[in-house]
Amino acid sequence: MTATLSRSTFTGLRCKECGHPYEAGARHVCEDVCFGPLEVVYDYDAIRSRVSRATIEAGPTSIWRYREFLPVEGEPIDVGTGFTPLLKADRLARRLGLSSLYIKNDGVNMPTLSFKDRVVSVALTRARELGFTTVSCASTGNLANSTAAIAAHAGLECCVFIPSDLELGKVLGTLVYNPTLMAVKGNYDQVNRLCSEVANTYGWGFVNINLRPYYSEGSKTLGYEVIEQLGWQLPDHIVAPLASGSLFTKIRKGFDEFIKVGLVEEKPVRFSGAQAEGCSPIAQAFAAGRDFITPVKPNTIAKSIAIGNPADGPYAIDIANRTGGTIAAVTDEEIIDGIKLLAEMEGVFTETAGGTTIAVLKKLVEQGKIDPSETTVAYITGNGLKTTEAIASSIGAPYTIEPQLASFNAAWAQSQASHGSKAAPA
Ligand SMILES: *Cc1c(COP(=O)(O)O)cnc(C)c1O
Ligand SMILES: [Zn+2]
Repeated sequence: MTATLSRSTFTGLRCKECGHPYEAGARHVCEDVCFGPLEVVYDYDAIRSRVSRATIEAGPTSIWRYREFLPVEGEPIDVGTGFTPLLKADRLARRLGLSSLYIKNDGVNMPTLSFKDRVVSVALTRARELGFTTVSCASTGNLANSTAAIAAHAGLECCVFIPSDLELGKVLGTLVYNPTLMAVKGNYDQVNRLCSEVANTYGWGFVNINLRPYYSEGSKTLGYEVIEQLGWQLPDHIVAPLASGSLFTKIRKGFDEFIKVGLVEEKPVRFSGAQAEGCSPIAQAFAAGRDFITPVKPNTIAKSIAIGNPADGPYAIDIANRTGGTIAAVTDEEIIDGIKLLAEMEGVFTETAGGTTIAVLKKLVEQGKIDPSETTVAYITGNGLKTTEAIASSIGAPYTIEPQLASFNAAWAQSQASHGSKAAPA
């Protein structure tokens, strides 16, 4: 591996709190000093000398076009993850009263239709490099889908853990890859605690536990892509969902790195976060002006972002505060309305996490916390076909008709009669 090592641009790990250095193995906490989280360290001079807008544009249409910014040494596992559409959302913008709104649509990410494919592509590439043959995760649903799928592609053994009350689409979307799936009778935080014990006992590569420093770097690509897709510019304001808070903090890191190596001109970007009221420990801390998290017990339809004790919560609060953003929560009803609004205005069907983002976006515009002239990017992180239970009773039913013109005529007349009220503003 030494030959490839010299090509890599990352130099090791470092404690995010005290700065203590560690070798780039499978570890995630500062065991020697303060038990803070570990982060990947890069040689930015090396990156600057190797990377330009042109080299990136000539790269693959996946996250691996940014491989110099990712913590891998050799050949990546490239399953086409990343470079998802950045959609100019003019109809939704007009409805909300904004002038420049974009939807970053990771609901069509490859291979499993959520942003988690980014973090898992990076984590499993690193897992393979570190010699792991069995990989695992503690998941709220999407992570299990991604880990099982990409492990299957890479020929790695896989055992994943989920809470037992997940949506059918998330369960089937894991089982089809034939991993070992453990459905734990408990919430995500209990699943996570169990997995920490399993990680210590079994020596597996847990993408979001002992491989977490590598895993979380995958989310930076959601920052890079938006910059590139906006024509090498930063937006003014971003809105993203918060579970552990990792994604949110890594979009910020992605922006900062592109500024640091001269790929984009610096300007202020406001960071606003979205949570479901039924699991909003970060929004609650933000509202109370606290910089620490009081854990909660999740109870919301937004299961993919239902983490009651979010590890990166304090960092997310710090970013929202420093950038002039905010962190807000919405009810389950508002989340369903958010899913429907995005579908009807833009033709994008998102899951409950995306409904949360759209509902918070709407709320922030109404509260004057997003300026109508700001270029705003809303991050849609998952696909609606995985959480159909959440909206099944809140959307219309088809007209069931006979295969005869008369039957259609009657149903069409009925639909036209009810269309007026359906299309009226809420
Ligand atoms: C996991 C997840 C998130 C947020 O994850 P973080 O833990 O905050 O990084 C957002 N949306 C969806 C759909 C997810 O699955
Ligand atoms: Zn430390």
